[in-house]
Amino acid sequence: MKVQPFDLSNSRILVVDDNQDNLLVLQTVFKRLGWKIDQVGDGEQALQYLNHMVPDLVLLDVMMPGIDGYEVCRRIKKQPEFSELPVIFLTAMGEMGHLVKGFEAGAVDYIPKPFSLKELELRVLTHLKLRRAMLEMQRMAVTDGLTGLFNHRFIVDSLNSRIEEAQRYAQPLSLIMLDIDYFKSINDSFGHQTGDLVLEGVASKIKECLRKVDLCGRYGGEEFLVILPNTALEGGLQVAEKIRETVQTANWGVQGLQAAISGGVAQMGKETSSELLSRADQQLYHAKDQGRNRICF
Ligand SMILES: [Mg+2]
Repeated sequence: MKVQPFDLSNSRILVVDDNQDNLLVLQTVFKRLGWKIDQVGDGEQALQYLNHMVPDLVLLDVMMPGIDGYEVCRRIKKQPEFSELPVIFLTAMGEMGHLVKGFEAGAVDYIPKPFSLKELELRVLTHLKLRRAMLEMQRMAVTDGLTGLFNHRFIVDSLNSRIEEAQRYAQPLSLIMLDIDYFKSINDSFGHQTGDLVLEGVASKIKECLRKVDLCGRYGGEEFLVILPNTALEGGLQVAEKIRETVQTANWGVQGLQAAISGGVAQMGKETSSELLSRADQQLYHAKDQGRNRICF
């Protein structure tokens, strides 16, 4: 397998430094590499910036007016969404004690001033690559390779957390369990490549029918699970019916090929996720039993 190198050319870097000359030098170097540079002059501004923007890397000065760099780094690292954000200290305080303090605050690297611009560039590049690789691994760990939907484990984990959330805020939640009809015959008659094409196609048709807040995963071979937060049974039925119709009317570009899908819908009651899953599954079973290409609830 050939792995594509990461495209780092549009990386965004936040530089936090109170020294205008430093900012200018970094600006010149990074712009040449195609990186976007955002600059702020103190820690307070850096934290405010991070409230509405997620950069790919932070270069952080230690001595600044107001909160010092170590404290800024600690506060950044306290937030779970920034756990993978690389922070590099860029500082004139090159003594060993400071270096250790920087790493303890959560930094990934520490570059003492004066530094060689080439070295800085290469170190930044290394950490940008590592971050990209980390994010890609995290994405792959929750994704089904064929359909691009969430995988079984992630969608079931999500169901648990969404149920907890819905119960805490007294909101409804609906679940749709879907299964492609006669999928084995599709594979047998048209071959597994076409079978895969149908799986991918159905996955993207399901996604088309969903809102941004809804979650969809590949539950099993040709089985899909859709979580609809803040949605009562009636809304769930509408979505399921829309999916069924979209799949039925789809053109697969293969002579003689048609696909259909059956679904079971259940609204969350005072029950565990596995009880809810099994109710949706029972309804799916009814849909199959009653002739397929239909939604039961
Ligand atoms: Mg300074």
